[in-house]
Amino acid sequence: MPFTDIVGNNKIKQILKNYLDKERIPYSMIFSGPQSANLSDLALGFAKSVNCERNKDDFCDSCDHCIDINKTIFPDVIYLFPDGQFYKKDQVLELIEENYKRPMISDKKIFIMSDANKMNESSSNSFLKVLEEPSDSTIFILLTRNKSQLLPTIRSRCQMLNFYSPTRKEIHDHLIKMGYDNEKADLLASISRSSIDNVLKEDFYSLQNKRSRYLEILEKLLKKKQIDEVLLALSDQSRSRSVFIDSFVEMINLISLMLRDIMIIKIELKKEFLINVDFSEKLFELQKYITLEKILYLIRRMEFLQRDIKRNLNSKILILEFINSYV
Ligand SMILES: [Zn+2]
Repeated sequence: MPFTDIVGNNKIKQILKNYLDKERIPYSMIFSGPQSANLSDLALGFAKSVNCERNKDDFCDSCDHCIDINKTIFPDVIYLFPDGQFYKKDQVLELIEENYKRPMISDKKIFIMSDANKMNESSSNSFLKVLEEPSDSTIFILLTRNKSQLLPTIRSRCQMLNFYSPTRKEIHDHLIKMGYDNEKADLLASISRSSIDNVLKEDFYSLQNKRSRYLEILEKLLKKKQIDEVLLALSDQSRSRSVFIDSFVEMINLISLMLRDIMIIKIELKKEFLINVDFSEKLFELQKYITLEKILYLIRRMEFLQRDIKRNLNSKILILEFINSYV
């Protein structure tokens, strides 16, 4: 799986390849960006490229070094995670000790630090000492979703690389490359919420089943019919709390996309800008049951509902309130 197989961020991937090509790798780098940017895949890809036996500025995923790095048994690529809520000072002290040891196989020892912003003041200050005394056989890659939480003195000593969420088009093109047909790639890219992982985690058939079920829920809600069934479907708690929240969030997102399409139909009366193209006939029918104003109201209420349910408030009451406010 070379760099081209990681979706998005082509410009920054090129910068990384240039570092490798010119053998001018910064001593310490910060990979900053949202979860959907796949920072850990990128850092791992970079570590493999440094060590790949077949490529100089990329990785093959099939040589012994690449395989061992994927299995996390390569001795010169070290992964660090916060111990609990934060990195403990002892962890950083161990890291300092490790930093002074020579690599075992490679020319470089690479430390990949997840959630680097989770260093408290004392571990940050200890870590700073490592950055102040760079070694030519060490590379630090600090991953963070929130670079502003890193000490300015740490930020200023690292090469900052800002990654972004892949665009809808990048995900679409990637899916085509994987063998999806254009229609499926279009739909999946639209509902992916910028994360290829969201798309790949489930099979297309079960996703379509869910979408059809959510369309029925939306239809009942808009037609204000069989509202007790809507309530039942929305608040189905037969699963564990975390599964319920995940699937609830997904349902609200998918229903919001349908409402967005109904809004486009009302404004444009055209099919070409729709995300849920396969449901266009039903969505055209449903647009008669709701005004633009009410669509915006519903989308906003659904955002609040999603937020409150994530906060672990009483979901049944929240859902009941939501339905009553609309019907
Ligand atoms: Zn390789």
